[in-house]
Amino acid sequence: MKPLIGISGSIIIDQGGRFPGYDRAYVNNDYVQSVLRGGGIPFILPVLEDDETITMQAQAMDGLVLSGGHDVNPLLYGEEPRLKQGTPFPERDHSETILAKEMIRQGKPVFAICRGIQLLNVAYGGSLHQDLSYMETESLKHDQYHNPSQETHTITTEPNSVMREQFGQTTLTNSFHHQIIKEVAPGFKATAYAKDGVVEAIEKIGEDGFVLGVQWHAEMMTKKHESMQRLFDRFVEEAKTRRKK
Ligand code: MN
Repeated sequence: MKPLIGISGSIIIDQGGRFPGYDRAYVNNDYVQSVLRGGGIPFILPVLEDDETITMQAQAMDGLVLSGGHDVNPLLYGEEPRLKQGTPFPERDHSETILAKEMIRQGKPVFAICRGIQLLNVAYGGSLHQDLSYMETESLKHDQYHNPSQETHTITTEPNSVMREQFGQTTLTNSFHHQIIKEVAPGFKATAYAKDGVVEAIEKIGEDGFVLGVQWHAEMMTKKHESMQRLFDRFVEEAKTRRKK
């Protein structure tokens, strides 16, 4: 049996067509395809509000992908919203926080991407810069806007990390974010940085498994860049190893 991989979903509201204003539960298909190529069975986990049901979603899965999207609500890390904060989605913050904590409590792998790394960091007590312009020094361009699979900036990995094992000292990534990690959550360490010091990956300390977040959209690169698919492969392999152990 292949491992069951939950991908946290979102809700998109139809802007036109037959049902303007209609809610749809969804994930971008690149997540699904990357998990599938890695040998997992992908499941979309819709945003739910009932804690018990969300916990059971997590219990049913062998691994969790926290997907990209909305800015995390700054109230969750003790800040009021600043001018460049995007529209939050509190129900999604809530359901993903429960999903992530339940998976980690059970020793199951979590792979957090873009918003996912931010959510994971905040869920464990870290904080964010609500916009790159709120950094003390000028940052590089971290939102390339177009060409999802294109590499635009360098990252440098830290020794003794999954990042170093997977990518060596440096690699290139895409970048589609305007928020960044300010303080890394207790119990986690930054394991990759952009050249301007922006945290591009975090990993849970003392974890012999796989609890890891990346700030770039790895799933958008997997088709063209083998090293990015290999990160999914490793994540799915961890889920498989830990399944019913
Ligand atoms: Mn970046």
